Amino acid sequence: MKHLLIIGAGGVSRVATFKAAVAMKNNDGFNKITLASRTKSKCDEIANFIFERLGVSINTASINADDSAQVASLIEKIGADLLLNLALPYQDLSLMDACEKTKISYIDTANYEHPDTAKFEYKEQWAKNEAFKNAGILGLLGSGFDPGVTNVFCAYAKQNLFDEIYEIDILDCNAGDHGYAFATNFNPEINLREVSAKGRYYKDGKWIETEPLSEHFSWDYPKIGPKESYLMYHEELESLVKNIPSLRQIRFFMTFGESYLRHMRCLENVGMLRIDEVEHNGVKIVPIQFLKTLLPDPASLGARTKGKTNIGCVISGVYKNKARKVYIYNVCDHEECFKETNAQAVSYTTGVPAMIGAKLVAKGVWSALGVKNMEEFDAKPFMDELNQNGLPWEIIEL
Ligand code: NDP
Repeated sequence: MKHLLIIGAGGVSRVATFKAAVAMKNNDGFNKITLASRTKSKCDEIANFIFERLGVSINTASINADDSAQVASLIEKIGADLLLNLALPYQDLSLMDACEKTKISYIDTANYEHPDTAKFEYKEQWAKNEAFKNAGILGLLGSGFDPGVTNVFCAYAKQNLFDEIYEIDILDCNAGDHGYAFATNFNPEINLREVSAKGRYYKDGKWIETEPLSEHFSWDYPKIGPKESYLMYHEELESLVKNIPSLRQIRFFMTFGESYLRHMRCLENVGMLRIDEVEHNGVKIVPIQFLKTLLPDPASLGARTKGKTNIGCVISGVYKNKARKVYIYNVCDHEECFKETNAQAVSYTTGVPAMIGAKLVAKGVWSALGVKNMEEFDAKPFMDELNQNGLPWEIIEL
């Protein structure tokens, strides 16, 4: 039984902390949970919600996750055994440093980004592989839905459904409606940096760059219907190309509503998505950070969002000398997620796998030294946990 330290108290953390508390109640992996974030009152609100719903008590603390010495001393003070990073990708490296110093395992859901450069790559986190091995700890990267479950779907296909995989299309559809003309379903700054970046996909040994959201096609998502899906770069492409060497092509597509696209293009045209500092009336501001202040807090969307998400992987290759193509996917309902956790489905689909990753590490079911991605482990125990924790999956032969 392990003491889990969760950093960050936004929408994703609400779900992961709730599900970890359910596991703790069932004596499954955790015997203590501490939730720490910049704004302690947000941790306390989540802790109260969990106590009212489940009768389970968790501890809370205030922390600046950019300060790795401060995090290390919190880890030592409370005696945490593993750290789940649900703050922002900006904090990945400082939190990994704190884990290395205190020799506890680290789990996150998004690759490191520097606030001043929108670069989506694992380079700096993979570079900590030897240091993590020497410290005798595991760094599990990308344990959300995408990355996360999508990597596990691919690993499950590789381990159980194919002799060789040639092509993967990852498809992310959020058909939820929150009634706002424009809002993002997770942290607005991180979301808009990702969506406005150039597209990129892998084909025949090369990376091909495309203009932002310029390539799209319609996919008929089970239980939702046809939706226009736009090619983007997404970080799991980098690790899957490395870990599935037979791959000839891998792409990532996401759906967007007309209103979201229209607003995003307009905001981009007027410079509101800029990530560099500008001076306004003698005050320095970063436009995208100012925009975040104006937009609805994603954690507040839960109560008003209706509809479903469908995220999955179309995988093709050969099995027993015959061509095979499958779609492995999950469908999640915004209103059901809210009923259970007071959070919408994007937070739910990220928070549940974050808890599962932490639990498999806590129980030693996933055990290794160094820095690893999700597809490097046996997919079956993770797939079983998805079924038991509210994210059931299906496979269709295409
Ligand atoms: P939110 O913005 O809602 O929450 C982030 C939390 O981190 C807030 O509580 C914030 O504190 C806290 N935080 C930020 N900076 C610091 C700091 N320096 N020190 C301490 N705490 C800090 O984000 P989400 O819950 O929507 O997303 C959380 C993470 O999940 C992000 O990294 C996001 O990229 C990732 N994600 C991954 C997905 C996947 O499928 N893999 C999908 C969606 C999200 P405060 O409240 O004070 O601002």
